[in-house]
Amino acid sequence: MSTLLIKGGTVVSATGRTEADVLVDGERIVAVLQPGSTLLGHDLAASVDTVIDAAGKYVIPGGIDAHTHMELPFGGTQASDTFETGTTAAAWGGTTSIIDFAVQKYGEAVESGLAAWHDKAGGNCAVDYGFHQIIGGVDEQSLKAMETLVDEGITSYKLFMAYPGVFYSDDAQILKAMQKAAELGLMTMMHAENGPAIDVLAEQLYNQGKTGPYYHGIARAWQMEEEATHRAIMLADLTDAPLYVVHVSAKQAVAQLAAARDRGKNVFGETCPQYLYLSLEEQLGAGGKDGFEGAKWVCSTPLRSREEGHQDAMWQGLRTNDLQMVSTDHCPFCMKDQKELGKGDFRAIPNGIGSIEHRMDLLYQGVVTGELTLERWVELTSTTPARMFGLYGTKGVIAPGADADIVVYDPAGHTSIGYDTLPDGSPSGRSHHMNMDHSAWEGFEIDGHVDVVISRGSVLVSDGTFHGRAGHGRFLKRGLTQYLS
Ligand SMILES: [Zn+2]
Ligand SMILES: [Zn+2]
Repeated sequence: MSTLLIKGGTVVSATGRTEADVLVDGERIVAVLQPGSTLLGHDLAASVDTVIDAAGKYVIPGGIDAHTHMELPFGGTQASDTFETGTTAAAWGGTTSIIDFAVQKYGEAVESGLAAWHDKAGGNCAVDYGFHQIIGGVDEQSLKAMETLVDEGITSYKLFMAYPGVFYSDDAQILKAMQKAAELGLMTMMHAENGPAIDVLAEQLYNQGKTGPYYHGIARAWQMEEEATHRAIMLADLTDAPLYVVHVSAKQAVAQLAAARDRGKNVFGETCPQYLYLSLEEQLGAGGKDGFEGAKWVCSTPLRSREEGHQDAMWQGLRTNDLQMVSTDHCPFCMKDQKELGKGDFRAIPNGIGSIEHRMDLLYQGVVTGELTLERWVELTSTTPARMFGLYGTKGVIAPGADADIVVYDPAGHTSIGYDTLPDGSPSGRSHHMNMDHSAWEGFEIDGHVDVVISRGSVLVSDGTFHGRAGHGRFLKRGLTQYLS
């Protein structure tokens, strides 16, 4: 077993920051020491295998991205990152654990959907990975299968109030699943948008000749998100099931979450970097209402109007803890042959944005601009994801006994985000390792830099070089949520 000392940095947790040296033995953190401590000898640095100088830098627990979709089949194609490319990009960006969604489709057994995901991910991940279970067809068989999930280390499952004919559950199905979840202690994750109504609006827009990606945002109106969020909260309340609403983007949906939380309910919300920074007008409308460039930013829930103030409301919700986490909903598609499927009909554009590599940086920029504290950054990106999904203690914290998943972050560094090559094929000087032919974050500048990334004691990234490998990442058998009040 090799030993490693991270020396001279500022260790940041969800509750504070302190100058400390971090000692790693094998895969675990074994000590967090006051600088200059002689408790473990007068020259600890000389007795370890590797010393990492973190002077002037932050030492934080590795990021946990609790919402990703590697290799997800969607709309006649599949998400362009494999478990290998997606988790490699994650490591580059300081994320050392992901929780992906295993898919059960209507008519298929939950067990075979899960087995298929283990096949895709097993031996291919550069960082640790867990699964949530999508239940795409709630029936007697899948309800029964939910009983085995906890033993499989899968303690959360997702339902969809959108995508009729694909993943959609009606209210009766949601009610039954939540009753079962409450009994088992599973966290219910909800895609909260009124899908049947959205599909009518989308068809009407299409028939009026409004076929560009901008209209994806118009069809998926905020009223559809607020209404579904409210309905999910009421069904959860009735069944006493804890509820986690994924990818919240409408300020009215945050208000629904806040109201439920004010009544003492175990209702939680996640937002994503795209809902903090990007908008209907600037991105979905890029190239004009009839242009196609906006396809890069077609995701659901959609980017919202900046004029209506949704982005500011997301930052505020993160500060007030009405939103508890930021995940990416990483679901990348290339423009060529993928997003292009929806040329002339926005309904056929595969839904998703690739962000897994940039989440830690994009949120750190919120610290720079004063939207978040340094501690809140750590809490939103690592500590709460660990607690919410039953990993805390092993993940999400720098403390003796925890996995040595550690990021050394340089606040004096700089990161230029964007696609890595120019159209002529020459290097752009930007950073991008996701398997995409564009970046949804082209031109974003970050006043900070992910310097060193360590996963269970192994250095995956240092000095701008990737040292990791597919197969290093292990499956995370998760416990029940540790976040309930
Ligand atoms: Zn969703
Ligand atoms: Zn998703």
